[in-house]
Amino acid sequence: MAKEPVSGELVVLFNHYAEKPGLGTDWGFSAVVRLGDETILFDTGKEGDILLDNMRKLGVFPREIDAVFISHIHYDHIGGLEDFLRENSNVRVFVPASFPRQVVEKIEATGAECVRIAAPMEIFPGVWSTGEMGGAIMEQAMVINADSGVVVITGCAHPGIVSIVERAHAIFPSRPIYLVIGGFHLLATPLTDISRIVERFEQLGVKKVSPTHCSGDQARNLFRKRYGGNYISGGVGTVIKF
Ligand SMILES: [Zn+2]
Ligand SMILES: [Zn+2]
Repeated sequence: MAKEPVSGELVVLFNHYAEKPGLGTDWGFSAVVRLGDETILFDTGKEGDILLDNMRKLGVFPREIDAVFISHIHYDHIGGLEDFLRENSNVRVFVPASFPRQVVEKIEATGAECVRIAAPMEIFPGVWSTGEMGGAIMEQAMVINADSGVVVITGCAHPGIVSIVERAHAIFPSRPIYLVIGGFHLLATPLTDISRIVERFEQLGVKKVSPTHCSGDQARNLFRKRYGGNYISGGVGTVIKF
């Protein structure tokens, strides 16, 4: 494991709302993570044309991407992958190990290298996958050992957002958690349970939060109230440095 933290930035490319006019929106999530040596595309949203158009408008070039990290198989996360690989297939694609063989073969047919991830694993210096988590829907999240602290990026958080953050904390037990961003999957969760989740975030020392995508308005409002200036809306066009 890399001992030195990395620095970089994250740009949200796909979401159902945008932070500025002129950007495409639809259900799903994608973000690009730019580190010193590596640029990683996290999920691809639902539609390739919206993803590629937002990339152009936000100054992200498909050819600068070295790897694609797919959190889970749902269409709002993998939908844009085929179109992206048409622009740049000279990438490694990290998928949960349980992905169906047909999907892996389809990725490999483009010339891309497909890497299946089961256990927690360092995929680039300072960048980890939580490993495949969950039951019915297997999902991995990205964990970055950044200068500002640990950055956690989730797709839908089907295995449970708290389990994911706890896994990230277990990977880097001595580092503070700087940011958790992505889908927290709390759309149908009762407010009392959401309240407990916010408390657990505070116990774990999570500094900034950006509950977005499938997090739900109730959860977003409660996190906003509790986190104040450390709450980030997370629509398309959001840039976060770490
Ligand atoms: Zn989703
Ligand atoms: Zn999902």
